[in-house]
Amino acid sequence: MQLDPTDEQAMIVRTAREFATRVLAPRAAARDQSEQFPVEELGELARLGLLGVNVPAAYGGAQAGPVAYALAMMELARADASVTVAVTVTNMAAELICQWGNEAQRERWVGKLIGGPYVVGSFALSEPHAGSDAGSLHTLATRLPGGGYRLRGTKQWITSGSHAGLFVVWAKTDLAAGQRGLSAFVVEKGTPGLSAGKPEDKMGLRGSSTVQLLLDDVEVGPDALLGREGDGFRIAMTALDGGRIGIASQAVGIATAALEASTRYAKERVQFGAPIANLQAIQLMLADMATWRDAARLLTLRAAWLKESGQSYTLAASIAKLVASEKCSKICDMAVQIHGGYGYTREFPVERYLRDARVTRIYEGTSEIQRVVIAREVLRDMT
Ligand SMILES: Cc1cc2nc3c(=O)[nH]c(=O)nc-3n(C[C@H](O)[C@H](O)[C@H](O)COP(=O)(O)OP(=O)(O)OC[C@H]3O[C@@H](n4cnc5c(N)ncnc54)[C@H](O)[C@@H]3O)c2cc1C
Repeated sequence: MQLDPTDEQAMIVRTAREFATRVLAPRAAARDQSEQFPVEELGELARLGLLGVNVPAAYGGAQAGPVAYALAMMELARADASVTVAVTVTNMAAELICQWGNEAQRERWVGKLIGGPYVVGSFALSEPHAGSDAGSLHTLATRLPGGGYRLRGTKQWITSGSHAGLFVVWAKTDLAAGQRGLSAFVVEKGTPGLSAGKPEDKMGLRGSSTVQLLLDDVEVGPDALLGREGDGFRIAMTALDGGRIGIASQAVGIATAALEASTRYAKERVQFGAPIANLQAIQLMLADMATWRDAARLLTLRAAWLKESGQSYTLAASIAKLVASEKCSKICDMAVQIHGGYGYTREFPVERYLRDARVTRIYEGTSEIQRVVIAREVLRDMT
């Protein structure tokens, strides 16, 4: 595993950091309060190539690979985790179409998805009664007599669902086949019968819109099907393997921001006649925060590197996501502690970091589900 970034990776990191510092960070607190969806910012990110970091250049992507992607998401999340989740989901949808779509589907959708016209993409798997148990979906896709499908059901927790131009939607094409009865479809915004509910009133990531998606007899052509009927569960699981690298990167970015804010504050805040950074109690917290952040970062880059080099990375991605999300929550909690009472107010960013960090332990597979995956892989591979 190469630890020094290549020239291309360094360039992507510079691009992401410059944009995050100049555009995202100054308005992150305002976006959190106003809950304004970052349409303009996402347009800029599309122009910079950051909505398709690991997408082939032939379809308008940056083709910079999974390691560059992870590094870029860390930079964006260090500034604003809300914008970052819209970016990671769009990258995930674009990669998924590249991997599972045919040439006509890739040409039709990927450029518009990552280049600006669609603003962002959404990944519509979860339902009100099907979260961790993704195989138990209720949404149905029935074949139409002249070809194509009619989709009917309700999706829950759909990131960017109120603004996305394209949705990857999972539905059952065979009720009797369990997980093998799932299929994945591309549905464009504006398709009759497709609508978004009102945004959830969330604890964190308030600059990201999370909605119910209603599919009321949405009719799509046969060319909306990704892969073959029955491929849906495999498509979702492979996309989530990559998605977990994105969420681990998001957690590393938030943790980095929390560590930096805490270090700054500890040097400035004077109690008992000296900066609190001189107190061993504070130093011990900073030491744990730095250690956990570095461990999470390296595990995340290892998973990305395995993906980049074409090796199996399911186990590494789950380990990275579990460690990064769990440690990120602890790091942000310590950041509030180091800030004392001020950390509990909106005057300092650490309370936002703590709220934003919490969901990384829930979405794209909860920490419990990561442990299920890790145990399954370990039991299978180790004798
Ligand atoms: C802000 C936000 C954005 C999201 N964005 C999207 C999105 O864009 N697209 C999308 O499809 N989904 C999205 N989700 C949904 C997210 O992926 C689910 O919330 C998550 O998978 C958990 O499902 P659930 O909420 O139904 O919880 P449940 O599955 O009901 O889990 C409840 C509890 O039971 C535990 N549990 C469940 N099964 C097991 C098991 N087998 N072993 C051990 N413990 C278990 C869980 O870990 C959890 O603690 C989002 C969620 C949030 C909060």
